[in-house]
Amino acid sequence: MTDRKVVGVCYAGIGDEYQSEMINGLLEKQKDLPWLRLMFFTCFSDRFSGSAHDMGECAIFSLINYDKLDALILLSETIKDECILKNIVDNARAANIPVVSLDAEIDGCINILFDYANSIYDIVCHLVNVHKRSRINFITGVIGQDISTRRVEAYKRALESCGLSYDPTRVGEGMWWDEPTRETVRKWIDSGQEFDAVVCANDIMAMSAAEELEAHGISVPQQVSVTGIDDLEEARYHYPDITTARMGYKKGSAEALRLLEMIFGGENPNGRNIIRSDVIYRGSCGCKEVRPDANHYHRRRSNAWDDLNIFTRQIMRICSRITESSRVSDAVDKLRSTAMRAWTKKMWICVENGYFDSSSAAGDIVSQAAGTSFPQVMEVLAFKNDTVSDKCRPFETSELLPDLDRELDECRSVLFMPLHVNSRIIGYIAKEHTKSIYEHQWLLYSMNMSNAFSTLRQQAQLRHMIARLEDMYIRDSMTQLYNRRGFFSKLKELFVDGKTHDLTVASIDLDNLKMINDEYGHNEGDYAINAVAKALMSISVKGEICARFGGDEFIVAGIYDNDKYYLEYEKSFYEYLDYVNSNSSKPYTVSASFGIVAASSGGLDNIDELIKIADERMYKKKAGRSTSYRRRN
Ligand code: GH3
Ligand code: MG
Repeated sequence: MTDRKVVGVCYAGIGDEYQSEMINGLLEKQKDLPWLRLMFFTCFSDRFSGSAHDMGECAIFSLINYDKLDALILLSETIKDECILKNIVDNARAANIPVVSLDAEIDGCINILFDYANSIYDIVCHLVNVHKRSRINFITGVIGQDISTRRVEAYKRALESCGLSYDPTRVGEGMWWDEPTRETVRKWIDSGQEFDAVVCANDIMAMSAAEELEAHGISVPQQVSVTGIDDLEEARYHYPDITTARMGYKKGSAEALRLLEMIFGGENPNGRNIIRSDVIYRGSCGCKEVRPDANHYHRRRSNAWDDLNIFTRQIMRICSRITESSRVSDAVDKLRSTAMRAWTKKMWICVENGYFDSSSAAGDIVSQAAGTSFPQVMEVLAFKNDTVSDKCRPFETSELLPDLDRELDECRSVLFMPLHVNSRIIGYIAKEHTKSIYEHQWLLYSMNMSNAFSTLRQQAQLRHMIARLEDMYIRDSMTQLYNRRGFFSKLKELFVDGKTHDLTVASIDLDNLKMINDEYGHNEGDYAINAVAKALMSISVKGEICARFGGDEFIVAGIYDNDKYYLEYEKSFYEYLDYVNSNSSKPYTVSASFGIVAASSGGLDNIDELIKIADERMYKKKAGRSTSYRRRN
């Protein structure tokens, strides 16, 4: 097959062993399939509890553009919310693409199921036939759970086929976990029940059972054989190493790709496919000689742990460096330079277009609680190729990445992970997906990045709000001129250089405002006040400080190098009001009295005196203006 095919893969719980087995199975098999491109959509939480955080996590599945896919593979067991799973399947069906479901039977999908019970059967038979055990106890998960019951049934069938009778007191509950398992083992020991094997329904319970037996002086496997299921890495390095069953997960994902290849080739494969598990015989059943070596587990993993620790520390450092920045642009620069060091060849950090713009960052904080949908347009905040590029352009979210086709040809597999704070979507991180033990560290990377981004945005919002509050404190809300407090505070700023400046002060008071109010209403009175305010704003082109001191009184202060300029200021004021009145259809004219004083020296110290003189001059003018108010008709 030569045609390129893009297959989407959906799963939750990146990095967990179960998921990694299947994902690595896909990535390994991809090497043999040159036509195959993979896009992984994943989140970290597999517990879709409906919490805001989980809602944000699983929104990654709403990013999928089904028109860009030729097929879909679901790790169905990992997506615990049935509605989300159903939604994905429905969307795929609407787009007319085949869906392979791994580990759960879904109507209308190609299902690949794992036979968990056959391994119990094989293990019990092995203990009887090879190790001559005849008093075999069984620890199941949660009694009553379907999956537990099926395992007990397999245990029963195996005993029967080996000619042993079933004794319900030999079945205990371990609840898939450590402490209940230990309790069950203790109960058996205390009751004096004799047993020579403990078969457990998973590896965690097998390790706990083996340890509890040893703690009671019962040696494993010499006196009692212990077995598990799952083939956990921890069980492999446990002492003694645990006989277990590998659940053919890799086989399952390879099978998924084989079936899809058939479909792409026009064939119609079976809708229900069973993958059998393989038993791995090790020390805990007695198949292998075990040497007591307590450091075994630790030694094998220490190098990997060291690397992981370095990676984790690096992530923490990157995030704290980003949030240290006081400006968003600095933070983005730092993000770009640190992205260079991320342990991946290619990476895109995509956020809602304009997420950090001061205007949108100023959007109210309520939007943090907004719904979980992706915005229509994304921008690449940082792109790591071999170098980090800052030529990141906005693109339609449905495109997933700029030049997606080319990138898929280059990377072949791309992983998409959510960036979100609670349920609010910020964007996503995409990276070349490789088979690596560090893959799940991207959980830390993207979670920390989400928090860093949200902190940055909140800081920007806070700065904006503080600026707004400060402004409200010093401005008159109706005219937007300074209030009395603002006037004096801005005036002080003019004198911070410590020099004395020649200060010019003007006092303005509307004429006959009371009559406008009385005859035409307060809205018209407001109009008149605003008209004067606008006049002052328009003519104050030399840095004058204009303030509404209260009611219809205005004070202006300015520093002029030309001592005649104050005369021009007065002239401009009247000209502006004439212009307003001649273009107005109001039944009255707006008129004001104007007094101005230019101080030859002094400054802040005699400001009160200057205002007083300006006021006196203004009132003098007012007294002389007999025609200051007139009706037009
Ligand atoms: P004069 O020509 O002598 O200045 O008289 P005036 O009618 O303008 O009255 P005066 O300056 O003595 O007093 C201002 C009046 O403006 C008092 C008050 O009723 C009115 N006023 C004060 N603040 C506002 C306001 O915000 N809106 C309106 N519409 N009127 C206001
Ligand atoms: Mg007045």
